[in-house]
Amino acid sequence: MNIFITNNCINCGACVQVNSTIFEITKNGVIYNKEKYTEEFSDDLYDAIYSCPVNAIHLY
Ligand code: SF4
Repeated sequence: MNIFITNNCINCGACVQVNSTIFEITKNGVIYNKEKYTEEFSDDLYDAIYSCPVNAIHLY
């Protein structure tokens, strides 16, 4: 499982508010920290996907 953040991202920070370990705001926009993901963050991952106002977070 991996996450892809599309160019639709408007840097609103909603996903970072859900989980600031796996999602992070950088100078280049919001990134997903794959290496920091653990099973305990599973619910947060789905909460972040549903909280994104522009549907920019995709599982693949
Ligand atoms: S919630 Fe969506 S639009 Fe907002 S920062 Fe995260 S990926 Fe970008």
